Amino acid sequence: MADSAVALEDVASVDIMTELLRRFKCSSKPDKRLILIGPPGSGKGTQSPMIKDDYCLCHLATGDMLRAAVAAKTPLGIKAKEAMDKGELVSDDLVVGIIDEAMKKTSCQKGFILDGFPRTVVQAQKLDEMLEKQGTKIDKVLNFAIDDSILEERITGRWIHPSSGRTYHTKFAPPKVPGLDDVTGEPLIQRRDDTPAVLKSRLEAFHRQTEPVIHYYGSKGILANLPAEKPPKEVTSEVQKVLSS
Ligand code: ADP
Ligand code: AMP
Repeated sequence: MADSAVALEDVASVDIMTELLRRFKCSSKPDKRLILIGPPGSGKGTQSPMIKDDYCLCHLATGDMLRAAVAAKTPLGIKAKEAMDKGELVSDDLVVGIIDEAMKKTSCQKGFILDGFPRTVVQAQKLDEMLEKQGTKIDKVLNFAIDDSILEERITGRWIHPSSGRTYHTKFAPPKVPGLDDVTGEPLIQRRDDTPAVLKSRLEAFHRQTEPVIHYYGSKGILANLPAEKPPKEVTSEVQKVLSS
């Protein structure tokens, strides 16, 4: 609602009251700047809405932003598409630019959840530079630790509601009506890179380029390892434990 162009007088009173209440609750929450790191299918997108609501943060997923750019055929999307289709990483400069811009949103005032960024040590260093300029820093990095063997079933069964980012799974988190979003009833889609062949390259990229990022934050003492192979609710309570400590 906050980002849309609807005039305030056209918004229902109940929606205004709900938003006021949310802002009031948020005002007492500490600021948090978080990174979620883990291979594709490890559960980052599934856990993000809960963290976002609990701490009043914005959720910045570079993969979602890039897919939107590809769908809209923007110059950024045109540059990113080939690497994404192959399961390779897009260039550091492209993603650093979109994150820098996205962090300026009003919804990021109390902090952010970075999901899928940084994915290389260069991106992590550039992020540190950006935050240093703002006089802030990352508070915690949540590492969704999981064995590769579990990921193919998670990835090939994943269904997404593109406009909200809600994620379902045919076996582990089925929608009430197959193929339709629980909240809006709109159709769900499968990602074009959620295939066993592309997953293989995405995992290679993760091990070669992103695992060093985990060590980068480990050496800074802000890394928390999560048992991401557990059921979603158990992962949620582990996340809550880490964030409240
Ligand atoms: P990521 O954002 O890390 O790529 P997702 O959160 O989209 O991963 O999860 C991938 C798929 O696995 C989704 O279909 C989701 O419903 C399912 N999933 C997420 N967490 C779990 C879990 N803890 N156990 C079983 N399935 C899960
Ligand atoms: P994801 O939605 O996080 O699985 O990302 C989907 C695809 O977007 C990846 O396979 C990459 O091609 C690209 N991508 C997303 N985030 C980044 C990033 N931080 N750096 C480079 N490429 C990225």
